[in-house]
Amino acid sequence: MTSEHVKCLIIGSGPAGYTAAIYASRANMHPVLYQGGQPGGQLTITNEVDNFPGYPTGVQGPQMMQDLESQARRFGTDIRYGMVTKVEFSGQPSLGTPHRAIVDDKHEITADSIIISTGASAKWLGLPSEMRLNGRGVSACAVCDGFFFRGQDVAIVGAGDTAAEEASYLANLCRKVYMLVRRDEMRASQFMQKRVKTAPNIEILYNTATEEVLGDEDVTGVLVKDMVTGEERVLDVTGFFVAIGHKPNTGIFQEYLELDDNGYILTEKGSTRTNIPGVFACGDAQDNIYRQAITAAGTGCMAALDAERYLVTLEMQNEEFVH
Ligand code: NDP
Repeated sequence: MTSEHVKCLIIGSGPAGYTAAIYASRANMHPVLYQGGQPGGQLTITNEVDNFPGYPTGVQGPQMMQDLESQARRFGTDIRYGMVTKVEFSGQPSLGTPHRAIVDDKHEITADSIIISTGASAKWLGLPSEMRLNGRGVSACAVCDGFFFRGQDVAIVGAGDTAAEEASYLANLCRKVYMLVRRDEMRASQFMQKRVKTAPNIEILYNTATEEVLGDEDVTGVLVKDMVTGEERVLDVTGFFVAIGHKPNTGIFQEYLELDDNGYILTEKGSTRTNIPGVFACGDAQDNIYRQAITAAGTGCMAALDAERYLVTLEMQNEEFVH
């Protein structure tokens, strides 16, 4: 196994990771960033991003991620392909034993500070048609893509708070919203349920399973099945939204970091500090609520600033120790 030591290791390459990289590079922290299994993160599977400030005419998601990557490279971030497969946060950087990460099971990196920006992944139903039409009418983010369906009829699957919130968001833009609920009741909070139940253009279909998303080039409908009667019908919609939850990509950290019940990394209020000194978390890996590119970028900036302060303190402690 090869080995190296770095001042700052960034794990993940979405808006949070690249923003952390830009700030860390400019602060002379010489960050090394590993891109992970999906370089660029969730935005590389969306089309147009219209709500990121600074792009008055919108930008394609993959282009925006390339821009962020180029900006991080311009300031000297060492950006690498590779997946961090294991971590050991049992070190104590203040006592000279740094944290450890293993890349692709074959390269060891020890680091004075680590910024986690591994993001989250939307859960999908797993239908082949859903995958085929992804980005062409199928979306897992109403706030990102709802605008493209204004005045049209859409369906959203899911019955939790996210689905209810996104259905309400879509109802403000679209002519009609079908909400597909697989059981005879919703999981969403009473407040959110009331919102969707009282919206005049949301129709809730209980006991309903999605059989297939229809369309060759773009979505033209959804085949649904009533799970009580077995009856199938086609809903004429041009947009199909999936809101059945997200899974934060935090599995490799669970042995060391405090996570909430859904697996999101817990950080100290108003900061990106985790329960382990020297380890910081930003972006969707620690955000179960906002989950936007701009909020991820904001917390990426915070993580780099927090890490920088941590490194300064560490250096001062080391100097005192030497003298
Ligand atoms: P949840 O896990 O709470 O809900 C997922 C929903 O998707 C459930 O209703 C589930 O159905 C349904 N579902 C799962 N798999 C399938 C499937 N294969 N087919 C059809 N339906 C399926 O996820 P959320 O993203 O909604 O929420 C995550 C957390 O974030 C929650 O704690 C929530 O309260 C919180 N949140 C809070 C918000 C707020 O306070 N404003 C906003 C958004 C989220 P079933 O019920 O049958 O299991």
